[in-house]
Amino acid sequence: MDKTDLLGMTPEQLQVLCTAEGFPRYTASQLADWLYRKRATDFGSMTSLSLAQRARLAEVATVGRTAPTQCRQSADGTRKYLFPISTGHPIEAVYIPEADRATLCVSSQAGCRMGCRFCATGQQGFHGHLTAAEILNQVFSIPEADSLTNIVFMGMGEPMDNLDAVLAATRVLTAPWGLGWSPKRITVSTVGLLPGLRRFLDESQCHLAISLHHPLAAEREQLMPVQRAYPLADVLALLRRYNWNGQRRLSFEYTMFRDLNDTPRHASLLASALRGLPCRVNLIRFHPMPDTPYRTSTPEAIAAFRESLTRQGITCTLRASRGQDIEAACGLLAGKTAS
Ligand code: SF4
Repeated sequence: MDKTDLLGMTPEQLQVLCTAEGFPRYTASQLADWLYRKRATDFGSMTSLSLAQRARLAEVATVGRTAPTQCRQSADGTRKYLFPISTGHPIEAVYIPEADRATLCVSSQAGCRMGCRFCATGQQGFHGHLTAAEILNQVFSIPEADSLTNIVFMGMGEPMDNLDAVLAATRVLTAPWGLGWSPKRITVSTVGLLPGLRRFLDESQCHLAISLHHPLAAEREQLMPVQRAYPLADVLALLRRYNWNGQRRLSFEYTMFRDLNDTPRHASLLASALRGLPCRVNLIRFHPMPDTPYRTSTPEAIAAFRESLTRQGITCTLRASRGQDIEAACGLLAGKTAS
């Protein structure tokens, strides 16, 4: 019999389980407390439950916590953790400490179906959706769990392609019975899968990051096959209809490829495409992987692009490259074990 992972369950879902097992009503809130406040890793440590309850729970369920099997540390302090998951293909989470914050970049799928041409995850294919427990386990089971200030869903996978699990995980992170975080500490990224994006805007208050990477349809499609099914123009039209009301942040991720999307002309096209949207653009240096035809923009081209966007009224930042020496930087996650 497959055991149920409790991590990720709401108090109501825990209640259903407790009722089915004939436990008293209050057991569900005790369980939520052990899972999310006390962060218990096994039933044995849940000492407010009776021994019989703990033994029965261990028969039908698991807590859902698994320690990372490997950690690689970059010279810049970034750490990449490898976690085993049920489908067998390991996934990665990246811990990024900075002076005033500590961010965890989590994965939502093993591999990815989106096939972005510049991304190591996209090139390795798809190996399954993560469950809410497997997403949350990355947050709960790294040694730095208590120091985290921010979470970004920018690791392996396309979050809107596994939205039920992503929303279940963000619910635990933000609910008063869970970690009680402000949704402003969480950013979910997407290439623009419209059905998921519509739902995400309705059902979540977390920040949103759109992977844009090229302002022109035909060229974007060369980089990101998703453009064929869900054109950027339709994504932008949806975002323009949404009432942003200053509560959540909209950003666009833009990886800089030499001569492909980094000229003054591209900056002007991008600025016109985004005009009127309350947003910022995050420029990302491309980190080449083996056999890629794409090249990294020169520092001069990046600086000029940034200046041009700023002049045209678009708030623009250059994302610091972190963890490149351990293949933890943007676009490099591939679930490889270290040799
Ligand atoms: S960039 Fe994101 S959506 Fe595209 S293939 Fe990589 S993981 Fe998937």
